[in-house]
Amino acid sequence: MARHTGSVCRLCRRENLKMFLKGDRCYSDKCGFDRRGYPPGQHGQRRRKFSDYGIQLREKQKVKRMYGLLEGQFHGSFSRAERARGITGTNLLIFLERRLDNVAYRLGFANSRAQARQFVRHNHFTVNGTKMNIPSYLAKVGDLIEVREKSQKLAVISDAMDAVVRRGIPAWLELSKQHFKGTVKAYPTREELTMPIQEQLIVELYSK
Ligand code: SF4
Repeated sequence: MARHTGSVCRLCRRENLKMFLKGDRCYSDKCGFDRRGYPPGQHGQRRRKFSDYGIQLREKQKVKRMYGLLEGQFHGSFSRAERARGITGTNLLIFLERRLDNVAYRLGFANSRAQARQFVRHNHFTVNGTKMNIPSYLAKVGDLIEVREKSQKLAVISDAMDAVVRRGIPAWLELSKQHFKGTVKAYPTREELTMPIQEQLIVELYSK
């Protein structure tokens, strides 16, 4: 599966937001955004004025990068959100949150969404007792996500679970740390998604 292979700290600097894409490093004084909080590149420190289109594009790029998706995958989620009942922008964010790689990250089984995606791909999790290695699987209410028994011994997973206290488990998920499992109690509401996102701008961009 194609993925972004360049520097992810550049992405935070480009979007002018700490997106916590690198796990532990994001909380240390090595954070690229904390050290150089201006856009990357030769002209990064110049003041820039964005058109309406530019503002919408940046918002879309920000959310896409936050969840670690490529354009086609992100557009696929948007199309699905458009077809679903309700407000398209809110649907989009909820669909993104329900992705298995995101749920594994939110439960603390990984330090970042990129790491969670790799763990899903490498068969470290089960959903409702069945092996699941599709990062885009949309978790449903009542789904039980577990770290497989042999994977529970991996230090990288237990370290991530120790570190999750820093960001906390969202109210729509429930973690049983001792048993390496988590449940989807409900779908997240818009109010519970506290990242600084103006999803309406993305809807406007794709409506052009
Ligand atoms: Fe972003 Fe983390 Fe890099 Fe800081 S360390 S710039 S938060 S990815």
